[in-house]
Amino acid sequence: MAKKIVTDLDVAGKKVLMRVDFNVPMKDGKITDENRIVAALPTIKYVLENGGKVIAFSHLGKVKEAADLEKRNIAPVAARLSELLGQPVTFVNATRGEELEKAVANLKDGEILMFQNTRFEDLDGKKESKNDPELGKYWASLGDLFVNDAFGTAHRAHASNVGIAANIGEGNTAAGFLMEKEIKFIGGAVDAPERPLVAILGGAKVSDKIGVIENLLVKADKILIGGAMMFTFFKALGKNTGTSLVEEDKVELAKSLLEKAEGKIILPIDTVICKEFSNDAPHSVVSVDEIPNDEMGLDVGPATVKLFTEQLVGAKTVVWNGPMGVFEMSNYAKGTIGVCEAIANLENATTIIGGGDSAAAAISLGFADKFSHISTGGGASLEYLEGKKLPGVESISNN
Ligand code: ADP
Ligand code: MG
Repeated sequence: MAKKIVTDLDVAGKKVLMRVDFNVPMKDGKITDENRIVAALPTIKYVLENGGKVIAFSHLGKVKEAADLEKRNIAPVAARLSELLGQPVTFVNATRGEELEKAVANLKDGEILMFQNTRFEDLDGKKESKNDPELGKYWASLGDLFVNDAFGTAHRAHASNVGIAANIGEGNTAAGFLMEKEIKFIGGAVDAPERPLVAILGGAKVSDKIGVIENLLVKADKILIGGAMMFTFFKALGKNTGTSLVEEDKVELAKSLLEKAEGKIILPIDTVICKEFSNDAPHSVVSVDEIPNDEMGLDVGPATVKLFTEQLVGAKTVVWNGPMGVFEMSNYAKGTIGVCEAIANLENATTIIGGGDSAAAAISLGFADKFSHISTGGGASLEYLEGKKLPGVESISNN
């Protein structure tokens, strides 16, 4: 079902509540990475330029005790937002009450205010994170329309996303541009992919990705598996895995996934091994059938990169989740780089990265602009790839 986006709303003269993801890393009250603020600008500007009044809000970290109130004060973000927008952002140091209500009432068309960290409401009974019905209703009462641009929390039903949507009135909730992109790419890849759909899965653990593997076994035409999780599959096939990371309690599961896959799962054929988890110790490439007892696999080998590159030829949709090796160490980054290159060279394919470390790998290795979409939500994109309905997405009005 197609969801409403902000351009489907008539925002002129309206009070537009906007859930953004300003959960930025901070150190000593200073923002250390402002990407998320920059990323939210198009949606905010769209509403302001079209004569709407913006009431913006976000969570920032977790708020468990009174001491967190100072650490999680979102005021510096409002100040930076004002600089980036080039216009004043009225900051309200409250999440409810008279000061906030007055500030909202004073907003003129094209003006913006931001209120305090939504999770300040968690201090007294987790009202935000447990979607307290009164809180969602109260926040909804402050505006006419609701724009949700916070994909990173879409897998959670909180008051500031689902609660507001439930109370703002039929047809009044829309996705911002960031949310729209996530729905289009990740939602599109799992719901109605252009085929062949090839999934590349890696990373640390099978246990983190069971849901993703199971869903993609149904949806994808091929699944290429690398990363540490390959060793649990090799164990399931009776191979010697040396000291590689194996999840013993997932070996049976891996066996049954391989049976269910009916050939859809393609495993590496060689691996880069080392005696230690170290970039400085001697390492070599061996066939996956020849891993010595005292060595661990830390990357896929060159023959595997070639195999995966061939398997990707002709793909129309590629979903990648999880690095092929310990890409943080240069000697074990080649598999991940090779797969990035293979994906980057595909013509006419929609290519998507979902997963925090895979996104970080692609960005740090210089491939950021080679992909159609790099998801911004770690947990949310994983659950989306698992085929789960995300409450934050579901609660957006249908178009
Ligand atoms: P994502 O965040 O993209 O979903 P994961 O969190 O599942 O990815 O996994 C990323 C981590 O997996 C990286 O830190 C990487 O070093 C680690 N990893 C990949 N391959 C191996 C391996 N062969 N042995 C140990 N760790 C590995
Ligand atoms: Mg991760």
